[in-house]
Amino acid sequence: MPKSDLVLLALDDEQLLQLFDRALSAVSYHVAVARDRDTLEKALQESSPALVIISQGFDGADELEIAGNLLDRFPTLPVLILLLRDSPDVVRKAIHIGVSDCLYTPLHINEIMQTVENSIKRADHIGDWTRREVKRTTASLQQRVEELQKLDTIVDHIEDGVIILDPHSNLLLINPAARRAFGLWQDDDIKGKPVGEVLNHPDLKILLNESISNPLPHNEIVFEDGRVLSAQCTPIPRIGLAVTMQDITYLKQIDRLKNEFVHTVSHDLRSPLTAILGYVDLLDRVGPINDQQREFIRRVQNSVQSITSLVNDLLELGRIEAGFDNQQEVVPLEGILRFALETLDGQISEKKLDLHLEVPLNIPPVRGNPIRLRQMLDNLIGNAIKYTPEGGKITINIEGQNEQIILRISDNGPGIPPADQPHIFEKFYRASNVPKGVGGSGLGLAIVKSIVDNHLGRIWVDSLLGQGSTFTVVLPVHKQE
Ligand code: ADP
Repeated sequence: MPKSDLVLLALDDEQLLQLFDRALSAVSYHVAVARDRDTLEKALQESSPALVIISQGFDGADELEIAGNLLDRFPTLPVLILLLRDSPDVVRKAIHIGVSDCLYTPLHINEIMQTVENSIKRADHIGDWTRREVKRTTASLQQRVEELQKLDTIVDHIEDGVIILDPHSNLLLINPAARRAFGLWQDDDIKGKPVGEVLNHPDLKILLNESISNPLPHNEIVFEDGRVLSAQCTPIPRIGLAVTMQDITYLKQIDRLKNEFVHTVSHDLRSPLTAILGYVDLLDRVGPINDQQREFIRRVQNSVQSITSLVNDLLELGRIEAGFDNQQEVVPLEGILRFALETLDGQISEKKLDLHLEVPLNIPPVRGNPIRLRQMLDNLIGNAIKYTPEGGKITINIEGQNEQIILRISDNGPGIPPADQPHIFEKFYRASNVPKGVGGSGLGLAIVKSIVDNHLGRIWVDSLLGQGSTFTVVLPVHKQE
C-alpha cells in the first residue's frame, strides 16, 4: 500500500470522533470516518489509508473479526483497536492476529498522537522491508521461470523423444518428437493419463515392465512402417521415470545392407573354397609329392578350412539374424545339453577338464528351434573348453525360476578384462587377453546372442580377470496352451 497520511476511523461515537479529529489534525493527518461496515469497506476500496482504527463493538460486530479480515487482505496495513472497556482477552487476541496496538479509554489527545505516529512509522519500516523482499523474490521467481522456459524450449526442440512418467505411470510430459513418433497430435490432451492408454505399443510396454526390475532397461521400439527407436528408461528421484528415444532407423538400414553384403560375399566365397580344397585333395593322386610339398598342402588345407568355417559362421549368422528359423517346437534343454556334451566329451577329456553338471530333474522345456539351441550350447561350452587351461574346471547349471530357465556355464579360465566385456557379443570381437595360439573368429558369441534374442531371452557375462567367467542365459519356459 503506498504511503499516505489518511487515517480511517471505524468509529460511531461522536465524542470520541471529535477527540480523534482534533488529535490527528494536530499532527496533519487527514481523517476519514466510517460509521458502519459497508462504509468502511467502501472507504478501503476508494482510498489507501495509512492506518485504520476500529472501535470495540463497531457496528454491533466483533472488532477482532473486522481487524482479522482487514489484515488478511492488507497484511502491512497498521490497524489499531480502540478499547472502550477493560478487556485483557481482546488485547491478547488482537496482538495474536497482528494488530499494531490498542488504545484505551479514557483517552488523552497526546496518547492518540503518539500511538498513531508510532504505528505508522513501524508499518512504513515493515512496508519498506516487505517491498524489498517482494522485489527480490519476484526477480528470483522470474529467473526461475526463464530457466524453466529455456528447459521447455530445449525439450520441445530436441530430436530425441522424451516421455516423463509419474510413479504411477501417468504421463507428466511428452515432447513433440515423442508425439510425432507415436502419431499423436500436438494438441491432444494426454497429460495425466496412464501411459498404456495413450501409447499402446508392445515394445514400449516390454520396456516399462522391465524397468520394474532393471534400473536402466533398454529396448528397441519397432513401428509397422519400418521405423526403429532405441529407447532407454532412467528413474528420476521424486518424479518417476524418463523414457528417452532415439531414431535409429537409418542405422538399422545400414546394418541390414552390411549384413546382406557380408552374406552375399560369404556365399560367393564358399564355392571357390570348396574347389580349392577339392583340387588340393587331388594333388597327391596325380603324381608323387615330396615331404615338403605334403607339409605345404597341409598348411593350405588348414587355412582353407579356417576360412571355410569363418564363411560358414557368417552365413549362419546371416540366416539367424534374418529370422529364417521359424521352426519352433517344445525343446527339453537338458536333453540337448546331454547331446552337446557327448560330442564335446573328447575335447573335455583331452584337456583333462573337471566337468560339473548341476541339472535337476523336471526342468520345464523351452519353446524354440532345437538346432539353434544346440548351436548356442556348443558355442558357450566350446568356449569354456577352449579358453580354460588344462586341468581346469567347468560347471554347467540349469534351473527353472518364475517361468524362466536359467542356464549358467562357468569356468575357471583366464576371465575377460572389464573393458572388453561389453563388446564380446559383437561380431569379430576378441578380448585383449586371448591366450596365444587360441584360434577363433570372434563370431561365436555374436551367433549365441542372436539365437538368444530370437528366443526372447537374455544373455550376459560375469567375469573376473584371472579367475574365470560365467555366461548366463535366461530363456522363457514353454507355456502349455
Ligand atoms: P572366438 O572365436 O574368439 O572364441 P567368440 O565370439 O566365441 O569368439 O568370443 C568372443 C571373445 O570372448 C573371445 O575371443 C574371448 O576373448 C572371449 N571369451 C569368450 N568366452 C570366453 C571364456 N569362456 N573365457 C574367456 N574369454 C572368453
